[in-house]
Amino acid sequence: MKILVINAGSSSLKYQLIDMENEKVLAKGLCERIGISGNISHKTADGKKVEKELPFPTHKEAFLALIDMLTKGETKVIDDMKEISAVGHRVVHGSETFKNSIRITDEVIQTIIDLKDLSPLHNPPQAVAIKACQEVFGKDTPMVAVFDTSFHQTMPEKAYIYGVPYEYYEKYHVRRYGFHGTSHRFVSARLAELVGKPASELKLISCHLGNGSSITAVDGGKSVDTTMGFTPLDGIIMGTRSGGIDPSIVTFLADKENKTPAEMSDILNKKSGFLGISGLSSDCRDIEAAAHEGNHRAQLTLDVVKYQIKKIIGSYAAAMGGVDGILFTGGIGENSASLRYDVCSGLEFMGVKVDKELCDNASRKEAKFSTPDSKVEVWVVPTDEELLIARDTAEIVGK
Ligand code: ADP
Repeated sequence: MKILVINAGSSSLKYQLIDMENEKVLAKGLCERIGISGNISHKTADGKKVEKELPFPTHKEAFLALIDMLTKGETKVIDDMKEISAVGHRVVHGSETFKNSIRITDEVIQTIIDLKDLSPLHNPPQAVAIKACQEVFGKDTPMVAVFDTSFHQTMPEKAYIYGVPYEYYEKYHVRRYGFHGTSHRFVSARLAELVGKPASELKLISCHLGNGSSITAVDGGKSVDTTMGFTPLDGIIMGTRSGGIDPSIVTFLADKENKTPAEMSDILNKKSGFLGISGLSSDCRDIEAAAHEGNHRAQLTLDVVKYQIKKIIGSYAAAMGGVDGILFTGGIGENSASLRYDVCSGLEFMGVKVDKELCDNASRKEAKFSTPDSKVEVWVVPTDEELLIARDTAEIVGK
């Protein structure tokens, strides 16, 4: 069975074709500038690369172009698009409606659109992409929606209710939802396999650290708390997002700087975090390089993020009444040995003992960097959201 996995934005479309016989990626690519001009970059498993400018007035033309790449010329990996058994779509927000991945129907698409208040930038374009995909593949090709929020729907009320008047939860669904759920589900399940115990018996902390970052407490295979909240702005500092701050800062700054709500949102989402504190860059590599050269604010940025991650790990261990395993994933989690090491050192009091050399050698692969006598196993587990979307799609379609 071959599954096409789609991760669509308003002007972009990332895709992978996965052969479920061996879970190998046959080809992948990215369509960009949809609705503006159009560009596709495509790569096959055996290393053939094509980049082309093509007009993409809508997502439909992007789908037609990627099918051409998959079925024709030097990048051909299948004879006909009919070989694609099903399509799995990443959808950002499933609210409380979608607690699991689901087969896409007209009603599902309408509900995804109806959640636009909660996810104005993502859900509407994702619904547009799903419809364009249906138009191209025909309604006989089954499609599945996999939501970033679903994994966190197991959080108890005490973890998702904010301390604002309860009527806002009832009226506007204001609560913690959490994101990166597909990643946290994939890597935490994998960590349970690596530790060699059933997920149901383990208390795990999953640190997904990339441009966007979130940390999740996974107890018995279920998300019980996570740092991202009503939106992905909550939690620890990220590339350009502030993470959680005293909410009064928002009204204070809006007043002082004469900013509208939209302008404040822009500052907190696009000008804060690593970029805001360092004044240099949102990219962790740039920050690490500048800190290495003695830049104080770059060093401060790293100190802040490491301190925040450490505090969350401690608080999630307390929330779960212990921790058996901690994992690092995402661009920063998988690559930055110094960040991983600094976060985990000093946690010996709670049974976490890590080895510097193991940590230095753990990047970009599955690797344990806790010592053999550490009570808590600490690992790098590379994430693969596309594979989990493909697995969910295959399972739901196979039913
Ligand atoms: P996204 O959240 O957009 O998927 P990624 O998971 O790809 O992002 O993470 C991007 C982040 O990973 C950037 O901050 C980048 O600097 C960081 N990163 C990538 N490689 C390294 C590295 N070798 N050392 C430190 N940080 C790295």
